[in-house]
Amino acid sequence: MLVSKSITAERSLAASPFPPNGQSLGAFRRALLRWYDHHHRHLPWRETRDPYRIWLSEIMLQQTRVAAVLEHYRIFLQRFPNIQSLAAASEDTVLSAWSGLGYYRRARMLHRCAQRIAKQHGGCFPPDSKALIALPGIGRYTAAAIASIAFDEPVAVVDGNVERVLQRLVGKERTAIALTTPQTWQLAQELLATSRPGDFNQAMMELGATVCVPGEPRCAFCPVRKWCGTIAQENGAPSARGMLKPPSAPPIKKKLWCWLSLRNGDIRLVQRPREASLMPGMWELPQSAEAPPAWKTASHWRTFRHSITITNYTVHVLRSIRADHSAAPRGKWIALDSVSQLPITGLTRKILKADGII
Ligand code: SF4
Repeated sequence: MLVSKSITAERSLAASPFPPNGQSLGAFRRALLRWYDHHHRHLPWRETRDPYRIWLSEIMLQQTRVAAVLEHYRIFLQRFPNIQSLAAASEDTVLSAWSGLGYYRRARMLHRCAQRIAKQHGGCFPPDSKALIALPGIGRYTAAAIASIAFDEPVAVVDGNVERVLQRLVGKERTAIALTTPQTWQLAQELLATSRPGDFNQAMMELGATVCVPGEPRCAFCPVRKWCGTIAQENGAPSARGMLKPPSAPPIKKKLWCWLSLRNGDIRLVQRPREASLMPGMWELPQSAEAPPAWKTASHWRTFRHSITITNYTVHVLRSIRADHSAAPRGKWIALDSVSQLPITGLTRKILKADGII
């Protein structure tokens, strides 16, 4: 049974306008596309149908805000303007260009995927979602995004934004018909405007990112509010809307001590183990989770705040104060002018920037 029919059949409420069907479905699609045409944010990856650029933006935008991606996207494309240049680069060069975006596994998979496309597909992206999903680092969502935006394949995407929009449209609180993941994908597919699949997918994501946002949705500005089950059931009562967002876990607090040690134009850095689960192979300042006992050759320089996922770190940075480096912490001396070519962690980048080293 189609998801829309299934939802309608299960509803115990008074008739709700969602999911639309027949002429109403056409009107829903037109309303959303019209809104998107007039109100979408102008972002560089929306000005192109080049699958390489769309793929890069999709990977960068995973777990990273648009504002943080914009500058990295521009610089990365200057350095690697096409799939061939990315495939030919060393992994360290790619990680270095990725530095500051975090979640470095994405950069490794990006590099591996570029090499596979160069080797097995003649440097061209395969033009359909089934072939794309077989590539390293490309899941169902990314394959659908590339295929629909670059190649007009009528295949729907579901990311966190689309899922939230759909759950609210069906009005999951009162109906108790929260969509399962397969139902969400199927419903997104049923709603998709096949004449403009790439734009429709981006419109759904844009609606979730800018109007049907987590917490308090901005329903007064919503182009599809007349179909919305949440509006129908709540009559705009904000108290019920607050329940749409699950309470988030409190952040974890930790302390860290880092050693900023300089000698004759060199800096002491440590490479993380290649097999580390977090940021493998990246370079960073020597650090410790314990307060150093008596660091006779260093003094406290500055304190930084740094967050990684749900952990908030208070980072105390110690600087060398005398020329005796016999007690230098583990690691290697690296020439300062080559540091910017290394893949360095976000925290180390932050500290070196604050000191004017990079
Ligand atoms: S009317 Fe409100 S809750 Fe419904 S889809 Fe639009 S923004 Fe989301």
